[in-house]
Amino acid sequence: MDLQMHFDGIDVYHSETQRARLLTETWVGENLYCPRCGNEKILHFQNNRPVADFYCEHCKNEFELKSKGGKLGEKINDGAYETMIARITSNRNPDFLFMSYQKQSMVVKDLVIVPKHFFVPSMIEKRKPLSASARRAGWVGCNILLHTVPQQGFIKIVENGCAIDKGIVLSQMSRSSNLELSNIEARGWLFDVLQCVNQIQMQEFTLDDIYRFEAILSAKHPNNHNVKPKIRQQLQYLRDKGFLQFTQRGEYKKLY
Ligand SMILES: [Zn+2]
Repeated sequence: MDLQMHFDGIDVYHSETQRARLLTETWVGENLYCPRCGNEKILHFQNNRPVADFYCEHCKNEFELKSKGGKLGEKINDGAYETMIARITSNRNPDFLFMSYQKQSMVVKDLVIVPKHFFVPSMIEKRKPLSASARRAGWVGCNILLHTVPQQGFIKIVENGCAIDKGIVLSQMSRSSNLELSNIEARGWLFDVLQCVNQIQMQEFTLDDIYRFEAILSAKHPNNHNVKPKIRQQLQYLRDKGFLQFTQRGEYKKLY
């Protein structure tokens, strides 16, 4: 994978933003395989479709690209807040590709895919409405909070200027699809508990270790008054999906 973007044929009279968009999109179209099925290329939608930027001819999966110069960081600006929430709650989101590149050299630094089924409303931050003097006064945009995505749904394709082996990316994508839930509320619980499990340093842990997160989980789900049973339910789900094992000592063991 050549991580250098190429300027050939890119009109120098475009604005910096337009040029960056053209360069990053061209790069993806020329270099990126389908992270879902491994097909050699993904294709750019010809006309500016509102929902996705790329698709795979083979598995028909769709992708949206968000790129930024410098570091990927914890959050990425996106479009209208309400539109994003509507897309997530109706399962109309494509997979998202998040790219960062070095601004001077236009070399890809990081590229991550977050599969569509990892999107939950709590991952979307509402920005302040645009001021009264702005052209689109009152318009509310959003930020995608990358640091809230569990590691199982934050799959690196390029990391710090090095392409990750395609086989590893494909196997992580396939593993992540075991966590696919169409129900948004169920999805929120699963990923919130998974994040807590990820934060436990040990490979093996007890119920008490995970119950330490009860207050945090209660705050995230204020309408649920049975947090502990809900936690146990998620652990069972993670066990059934091959992410955890129940040991003979009544402990949980991470299988990742
Ligand atoms: Zn594909």
